[in-house]
Amino acid sequence: MQLASSVYAFHTSFDVLGYILLFGALYIVNEGFGLTLFAKISLALLLGVLIALSGLYDGADLQAIRPVGSKIFMNCLTMALVPLVFSSIVTGVTNLSDINKLHKIGIRTISYYIITTVIAISIGLTMANIFQPGKNLDADTRAQFEQSFQVSAESKVVTAQENKQSLFEGLQAIFPENIFHSISQAKPDMLQLIFFAIICGIALLQLESKIAAPIINLFASITQMTIKIVMMVMRIAPYGVFALIASTVASTEGVGLLLTLIPFSIIVVVSLLIHALGTNSLSLILLSHKSPKWFFSRIKEVAITAFSTSSSGATMPLTLEVTRDKLKVKKEISGFVIPLGATINMDGTALFQGVAAIFLANIYNIDLTLADQLTVVGLAVMASIGTAAVPGVGIVILTMILVSIGVPAEGILFILPVNNLLDMCRSTTNVVGDMTCAVYIDQKIK
Ligand code: ASP
Repeated sequence: MQLASSVYAFHTSFDVLGYILLFGALYIVNEGFGLTLFAKISLALLLGVLIALSGLYDGADLQAIRPVGSKIFMNCLTMALVPLVFSSIVTGVTNLSDINKLHKIGIRTISYYIITTVIAISIGLTMANIFQPGKNLDADTRAQFEQSFQVSAESKVVTAQENKQSLFEGLQAIFPENIFHSISQAKPDMLQLIFFAIICGIALLQLESKIAAPIINLFASITQMTIKIVMMVMRIAPYGVFALIASTVASTEGVGLLLTLIPFSIIVVVSLLIHALGTNSLSLILLSHKSPKWFFSRIKEVAITAFSTSSSGATMPLTLEVTRDKLKVKKEISGFVIPLGATINMDGTALFQGVAAIFLANIYNIDLTLADQLTVVGLAVMASIGTAAVPGVGIVILTMILVSIGVPAEGILFILPVNNLLDMCRSTTNVVGDMTCAVYIDQKIK
């Protein structure tokens, strides 16, 4: 009690000093010791978890610093996303100098993403079928979940219903009516932007070089400029990561219920690891003739950024930079494959949805037939193509999948306590898949 009140006194009278101490410590980590960026971000992550668990700052204090990550850091990463995606695709397409090549890259990239997503979800479904998470949930625990998470689950179901579209509607949505409208929303429509950029690139290829060259050069410079911006922004990454992690850990609700979710979470995380490390390593060895060690030692910063931001979209500028500069993937390939992957490739998300579907079916005592499980595969693959890569989107897609296989959509309430943590893991898996694909396409297209 004594301790609790002195901690509280610290919080109320010295909160400014408290923040200064916190960020001062981070400043020292960030500016001193000659650490690599990866080491700094890892330390910030660790510090974030420790501070959140230490009880020195209460939940509200740590929520107050969240915008350092969720607004300042993530917005700085995404502010140049639209010009970067547009210019890198236009430059990529025009560098190919041959539309047939574009055709080949396009088909191979999309096929690669679809096949690896199917493999990912198959791993998830197999693990869930073997270990059957969610069987025998007792009535008391079920009531506790319902009491704590019913409301937020319902609001996610509503969001899913509002965004529901048929396959044909999804296809139509690729064609922008007005590109300025597509990109001027708070969440720009990336598929429309990619489509428009490809068309512009193809048109430029067909123009006389005297006319096309200034535009092509301009976009090549814009790409370089935006990549430079990303490198500058990454210097504040440790502060952003710290704020994101500390506030996420501090706001984890339903801690008492977390224990119940341990088996489910372990199955998801182990399956993600099998896919992220196993499937991707196989792809690197068999398809790209590269060593996994070479690959994974170069992508650490991207992985930890995706993990901390829970967003493959926000991480995309960094993914692109690392794919070009560290994995040495040709600019015309990385400039096309990475933005496309960040938009349509969500193998980690699909895997999570497979495990979650079986988990929730078990909770509701519903037997999922093979046909139901194949429906899950098909829908998860299609949804990963059509939805934006932003934090938490996986759980919204899940509600649509659940409805199609006859499991109550509100069932997501049983997953919400661990959703943030799993979102971090699946976002990391998603970006690793994007980069493996870029390495593969780079090997194939000479
Ligand atoms: N946050 C994930 C991503 O951006 C999507 C998800 O919610 O699974 O890749």
